[in-house]
Amino acid sequence: MRIFLLLCSLLFLIFSGANAQRLCTSDMQAVSVYKGSANNANLLQNGKGRDTIASEVIIVPVVIHIVYNKAEHNISDAQILSQIEVLNNDFGMLNLDASNVPSVFRNKAADSKIRFCIAQTDPSGKPTKGIIRKHTNLISFQGDDAVKFSAAGGDDAWDSKRYLNIWVCNMGGRSLGYAALPGGEAVKDGVVINYDVFGSTGPLRASFNKGRTATHEIAHWLGLKHIWGDETCGDDGVDDTPRQRSYNYGCPSFPRLSTCTSNGNGDMFMNFMDLTDDACMNMFTHGQAIKMRGIFALSGQRNDMLLSYQCDSPVAGGGPLLDEQKPMPVPSGLYIYPNPVRNYLTIAGGGTDLSGVTYTIYTTQGIKISEQKIATPNAQLNVSFLPAGVYYIKIRTPQTTMLKMVKL
Ligand SMILES: [Zn+2]
Repeated sequence: MRIFLLLCSLLFLIFSGANAQRLCTSDMQAVSVYKGSANNANLLQNGKGRDTIASEVIIVPVVIHIVYNKAEHNISDAQILSQIEVLNNDFGMLNLDASNVPSVFRNKAADSKIRFCIAQTDPSGKPTKGIIRKHTNLISFQGDDAVKFSAAGGDDAWDSKRYLNIWVCNMGGRSLGYAALPGGEAVKDGVVINYDVFGSTGPLRASFNKGRTATHEIAHWLGLKHIWGDETCGDDGVDDTPRQRSYNYGCPSFPRLSTCTSNGNGDMFMNFMDLTDDACMNMFTHGQAIKMRGIFALSGQRNDMLLSYQCDSPVAGGGPLLDEQKPMPVPSGLYIYPNPVRNYLTIAGGGTDLSGVTYTIYTTQGIKISEQKIATPNAQLNVSFLPAGVYYIKIRTPQTTMLKMVKL
């Protein structure tokens, strides 16, 4: 297998008395990315992989390896969770600063329908917080992947077919992070991010304090190139990103004109795949979203991830595919409301305590979206991340109940 790895190293150049500049020395020329359609609706084939479907929310389970030498490298849970929130906002076009996208680019901005969750099940099937904290004797890590190996002072990867591995460590001051590209070695698969640019809360480095380093690196992990194609007026393999002469840094003013053709509105320097400051990048395009989703398609390098349920409770089992011909049972004393629902759905058991009961959400095609154990007598489910459509909720009571839910 050809190896594509460690092609992105974000470096700082410190100018005397000036702001720090983000510089990415990525060599993405060897990237082999599946470019198939993300809209093919073949579901199950030979009992193994399945293809993505057009409106499917692709959920990527994440494990965070905090490898620390000093206390300040051992960042808080709150800082870690803030990064997951940033990822879901940025990949979902839910980031508040999406409103800063210039009007000429606004119709190009896209929700990738890719989301991230912290793993609840470890590789052996046991419950986990999805956050590993490990002390190392190494004061800092270089870009040599030592952080990915316990024997080298880091922490071994979890199965990269089922988890996105994110290592957070001290990278020695210059580098912000780097990504392994699709198709690389499983034991090195994932992204490495410096501890003080991870998340959007906590003691973070100025200019890189909104969690966009991880957004950028994970987009590389999903096969995206830099927007300038890593060469003068280069091609990033995406049709709806304008050619631009080179990278931008800091926080340019719009429009920033390049000398490349087809660049009438100037550079898309606010794209997450340029090198501008965190506060000045705010969008992926539809073309970038299609390319990233293609990685999960049937022939894509991360297709296995579609069958990963590592964010589900290990206590809950898998559910069968639905038979739409069967009438929906109407259980006594069980209610879901409101229906249709926009953000939060309540499941109430009437007089019955639902604690410990499992619920599962499926698409109408039988794709399992989420499975959780209810922890309280009445459950309130956040369904805001689901795209509009019809879903089924299976509630595993003694009589096993299936309910239809409409998301607005
Ligand atoms: Zn990069």
